[in-house]
Order: sequence, then C-alpha cells, then structure tokens
Amino acid sequence: MTCNDWKDMMMGYLDNELSDEQKQRFEEHIKGCSECTKELMEFKSLKAITDDLTLAEPEDKLWQDYWSGIYNRIELGAGWIILSIAAVILIIFCGFKVIEEIIENPNVEFLFKLGLVLLVIGLAILLVSVIRERLYFWKKDRYKNVQR
Ligand SMILES: [Zn+2]
Repeated sequence: MTCNDWKDMMMGYLDNELSDEQKQRFEEHIKGCSECTKELMEFKSLKAITDDLTLAEPEDKLWQDYWSGIYNRIELGAGWIILSIAAVILIIFCGFKVIEEIIENPNVEFLFKLGLVLLVIGLAILLVSVIRERLYFWKKDRYKNVQR
C-alpha cells in the first residue's frame, strides 16, 4: 500500500469506521511514516473544527429563538407605549375641549385652571393604566382558555 492509500483511510480511522485489523495496520504505518503522521494531525484538527460546527448548529437555533423572543418583547413594549401615549393625548385633548371655556374664562383663578389641567392629565394616565391592566389580564385569561 502506498501513502496515498493510507491517506484515503484517515477519515475512516478518525470516524472509527475501520475494522480492528485495518486500524492496527493503519497505526503501524503511521508510527513509521512521519508524512502520514503529519497528514493525520491535519485531518484531526480539521475534524475538530467540523465537529464544532455541527455542535454549534442547535446553539444557533437557541440564539435565534432568544433574539426573536427579545424582539417580540420589544415590539410588544413599544406597541403598548405608543398606544398609551396616543390614549393619553386623546383623553387630554377631549378633556381640554370640555374645560376649554373655564380655561379661557379670564375670571377664573390661574391655580384653579392649573388644578383642572393636572386633574385631566392624572385621570388620563389612570384610565390608560387601568385599560392596560384589563387588556393584559384579558389576554392572559384567553391564553389560559386556549391551553385547557
Ligand atoms: Zn505514509
């Protein structure tokens, strides 16, 4: 057998696919042939790299799930924030429309106007947080129903 024949067996040797007899003869040749020993070492490191790549695959999947999970949470959070801001703006706007006359009335004290404005803002924020809470629990309940 020439060195090239032995080289053809190297991958099989590293993957443990040779018969005991083949293995023994292969190891005997490697012991006496520095060129094949060197080649075997290269094959070994190449195999280590490809093994690492195969191991890395399920890990990549985990990372993908992890990041898409984070993305979903960011998306959901951003959606809630935008919705809340929009609701607060709309409620304040409507509130202002209702109390506009009082605000524009020069006979009404400034502190009373300020109090009224803060009251509307506070009510708007409270209302939005209550709605948010209700929606959150409603979603949770619905999810529970699906699981049953
Ligand atoms: Zn050789």
